[in-house]
Amino acid sequence: MSELAYKRTNVYEKADEKLMKAIFDYAEGYRKFIDEGKTEREACAYVLNAAKEKGYKPFQFGDKLKAGDKVYYNNRGKNIYLIRVGTEPVEKDGIRIIASHIDSPRIDLKQVPLYESDGIALAKTHYYGGIRKYQWAAIPLALHGAVVLSNGETIEVKIGEDESDPVFYISDLLPHLAAKQNAKPLGEGIGGEDLNIWFGNIPYTAAKDDKDKTVKENLLRILNEKYGMKEEDFLSAELSLVPAFKARDIGLDRGLLGAYGHDDRVCTYPAYTALFDEESDKHTVMVVLADKEEIGSEGTTGMQCVLFTDLIDAIASSFGVSSAAVRANSRCLSADVNAGYDPNYKSVSEPLNSTYVSCGAGVTKFTGARGKSASNDADAEFMGEIRKLFNENGVIWQTGELGGVDVGGGGTVAKYIAKMNINTVDIGVPVISMHSPFEVISKADLYEEYLAFRAFIK
Ligand code: MN
Ligand code: MN
Repeated sequence: MSELAYKRTNVYEKADEKLMKAIFDYAEGYRKFIDEGKTEREACAYVLNAAKEKGYKPFQFGDKLKAGDKVYYNNRGKNIYLIRVGTEPVEKDGIRIIASHIDSPRIDLKQVPLYESDGIALAKTHYYGGIRKYQWAAIPLALHGAVVLSNGETIEVKIGEDESDPVFYISDLLPHLAAKQNAKPLGEGIGGEDLNIWFGNIPYTAAKDDKDKTVKENLLRILNEKYGMKEEDFLSAELSLVPAFKARDIGLDRGLLGAYGHDDRVCTYPAYTALFDEESDKHTVMVVLADKEEIGSEGTTGMQCVLFTDLIDAIASSFGVSSAAVRANSRCLSADVNAGYDPNYKSVSEPLNSTYVSCGAGVTKFTGARGKSASNDADAEFMGEIRKLFNENGVIWQTGELGGVDVGGGGTVAKYIAKMNINTVDIGVPVISMHSPFEVISKADLYEEYLAFRAFIK
């Protein structure tokens, strides 16, 4: 191929011994993060700890910021902003923003979950985000979340992660009796109200009253002993079922990594580690760990909350400059995953414009559906700036859309940030089996994403 032609670079093809070591070493830190932070609350706690170790201090509205300050804003334990104030005038240089999300598709308990049927205690659920329901049956699930008790105290719940813990379960039919279910379209095989969790099956035989000799009563006793909970406490709880398995290397060569929740913590980890590792203090940097992306970035902890602009206002007012000027000169990498090209399902992608595993960080000019509907279509000038930056810094990157035209589509937080007059483009790691209980990424792409972020904030 002539030097005039464009060609993707496979990172592993190009990597020397030193780069290979860096890629594999970096993935070990990520493995720890993704295994310990399976919900937004846990990911927040993990990153907060790391930030505190790096000298980040809590920020409160009213505080004045100055060059060199390193602060965090902990929004309800589910959404974090890390801010490092640079030496350049912020009204001219703007803020370098990297925004990823830390919520992932999962199965939430309903507020009145427990019931008993035919000697089995089960729990009703309402799924969170876009899942393919049939994928969540017949796998071990762990229960994570928080319960606010009647006295106002919040307790953390995490059952199913320790090898000695029990796990939870959604049953599926045996093939012998599944003829009718097999004949249904895949998406209807298991319905939303069929995602009931197996919670227990030993009755409370010690009950005085015969009507209390139930499995459900026994579970309420266990919950009460362990957490001081009563059934009504579920009304003020956020409890989620997530896959109980840990991240595992995939393939004989270990180049890929399988785990629950790569979308989007595979972008979160490079974002905050790039901030901590890139010590250059010139630019003001903001790393956002957003919640609620999977359900539209709504609510107090989602990217659409005004907290985002409130914090930019706070930075601007610390220097007595216009917030509008700060935003106009800011730029943002919306750090979210893209669909990796899957040789098993070629027909949903268009091969020229897809991101491929191990070909580096995937830059996506626009997301959306149909005629680019509901997408932030980054302009050519900003694409050009990012392209130049990555190329000059030796970052291996590629570009791709989320599937072929009119096959489907999706969105990210990019459009909410762009709406604030901030140049924004999507960049993320290609993911295989996105939104499934066990997603797959390339360790090489994870590392290139990290290098891309370092180049961006340097
Ligand atoms: Mn995502
Ligand atoms: Mn997603």
